[in-house]
Amino acid sequence: MVVGTGPGGATVARQLARAGREVLLLERGREWRDHPLYGTYPGALLYTDKHALLFTKEGLNIIRPLMVGGATSMFAGCAAAPLPWWRARYGIELEAYATETAAELGIAPLPPALRGAASTRIAAAGTELGMAWEPQEKFMRPTANFDCGAHCMLGCRCGAKWNAAAYVDDAVAAGAELWTGARAEQVLITGGGAEGVRGQVAGEPFVVRANAVIVAAGGIGSAVLLRRSGLFDAGRGMTMDTTVMVYGHAPYKGIGHEPPMTWSYADDELGVLFSTLIDPWLMYPIIMARKGPAYPLTWRRWGHTLGVMIKLKDEISGSVDIAGRISKGLTGGDRRRLARAEEVAGRILRRAGCDPDTIFTTPLRGTHPSGTVRIGEMLDANLATEIANLYVCDASVFPEALARPTVLTIISLAKRLAAHLLGGG
Ligand SMILES: Cc1cc2nc3c(=O)[nH]c(=O)nc-3n(C[C@H](O)[C@H](O)[C@H](O)COP(=O)(O)OP(=O)(O)OC[C@H]3O[C@@H](n4cnc5c(N)ncnc54)[C@H](O)[C@@H]3O)c2cc1C
Repeated sequence: MVVGTGPGGATVARQLARAGREVLLLERGREWRDHPLYGTYPGALLYTDKHALLFTKEGLNIIRPLMVGGATSMFAGCAAAPLPWWRARYGIELEAYATETAAELGIAPLPPALRGAASTRIAAAGTELGMAWEPQEKFMRPTANFDCGAHCMLGCRCGAKWNAAAYVDDAVAAGAELWTGARAEQVLITGGGAEGVRGQVAGEPFVVRANAVIVAAGGIGSAVLLRRSGLFDAGRGMTMDTTVMVYGHAPYKGIGHEPPMTWSYADDELGVLFSTLIDPWLMYPIIMARKGPAYPLTWRRWGHTLGVMIKLKDEISGSVDIAGRISKGLTGGDRRRLARAEEVAGRILRRAGCDPDTIFTTPLRGTHPSGTVRIGEMLDANLATEIANLYVCDASVFPEALARPTVLTIISLAKRLAAHLLGGG
C-alpha cells in the first residue's frame, strides 16, 4: 500500500505494479487534470491546502497542493540531479536512477528561444558579475501550443510539463488500484509490524490490510500520519528550502510572461540557489499585502518586474505536530546567509537595469517542506522505519535541505526503494 501520489508515491507504486506486485494507492485529494479549473487561479485555490493560505506559526506561507500528482501538479518543472553528498555522507547511490529518469522524461533546459528575454538578461547580469548562471534543466517538453508564464505554476494547461500523475497513470495501467479522496489517518501497527492503514474515503471509514505500507504523503502529510501512528519523533525538525524573491522594476518587459526558472545559479558555499522567478499575476498583490500596505501598489508594474528567487539551504528546525500545525522560522545562521543572498540578488537586478529604489524582498515562503522523517534518524538508508514493513518515500526523508529542485531526487529515491523491495537493490 502506498499513501500519497506525489513523485515519491507515484514512482514507487509504478515500479512495484510494473513488476507485478499488487498495489493500492491512496490519495486524499482528487484528480484535477481534466477539470476546466485545472491550471487557473480559482483551481489553484481549490486544490491547495487552506486555499493557499497555509502559514507556519511564524507567518511563512506554504503552498501545499493536495491532488493526484501531489505538488508536481503546481511545480515549476525544474530538475536537478541528486547532489554528490547523498553518496558521500549517507552512502546512498542515486545517480543511475536519475540518469535513467532524465533520459526517459527528456529532462533538458528549454531551447534558448523559450528561456525568455528578460530571464536571460538576469542570467547575463549574474554572469557579468562573476557567477556561473546555467540554463535550468526542466521536466518540460515544449509542445506546438507551448504557453508558459508565471501561471505555469497554477497547473500546466499546455501539456508541456511532466507531472507525477503520469506515473500514477502508468501504475494504474500496470494493474495498481487508485483511491482518490482517500485520507489515511493511521498506520495499523501490531507486534508483527505495519499491517495496513485506517482512514476515510468520501466520509466513510475504511481499514485496508497490506503486507507493506509505504508512506509518501509529503513532508507535512507523512509526519502527521506517522505521529498519529505512534512514531512521535516524526515532524521534530524540518527543512523548507525557505524561499524569497527579490524584485525590481526594469525599463523593459519583465519576466511574468516567461516560463518560470529558466536560468539558475547554485552557490553551494553560501547554501543558496538563485533563479529567475516571479509570482503569478493574481497571486502577486495577495503576497505583497503581507509585506506591508505600500507593496500591493507595486502590482501595477508587474509587467516590468524582474525577479531573482533565493532558495536557502535552511537548517533543520521547527516542527510539524500531530494536528499538522507547523512551526518553521529561520535560525540566526539562516538569516545571515539570506541577507548576503539578498545583497547578491540586488546587485544582479541593478546590473540588469532595475531602478535601485524599486528593489525589495518578498515575505518568506516555503514550497519544499521536507526533512521531517529523516534518513539516519528515523529511517535507515533503505527508507525503512524501525517498524517492520513500514517505509517512507518522499521529501520527508531528506536528511538535510537540498536547496535544489527536489523531484528528480525523490523519483530516484523511490526507484531505489522499489528495487530494494523487489529484491534487486
Ligand atoms: C509552487 C511549487 C513549485 C515547485 N517547483 C519545483 C520545481 O520546479 N522542481 C522541483 O523539483 N520541485 C519543485 N517543487 C517541490 C516539489 O513539487 C515537491 O518537493 C515534491 O512534489 C514533493 O514530493 P512528495 O512525494 O514528497 O510529496 P507531494 O508532492 O507533496 O505529494 C504528497 C501527496 O500525498 C497526499 N496526502 C497527504 N496526506 C495524505 C493522507 N493522509 N492520505 C492520503 N494522501 C495524502 C497529498 O494530497 C499529495 O498528493 C515545487 C513545489 C511547489 C508547491
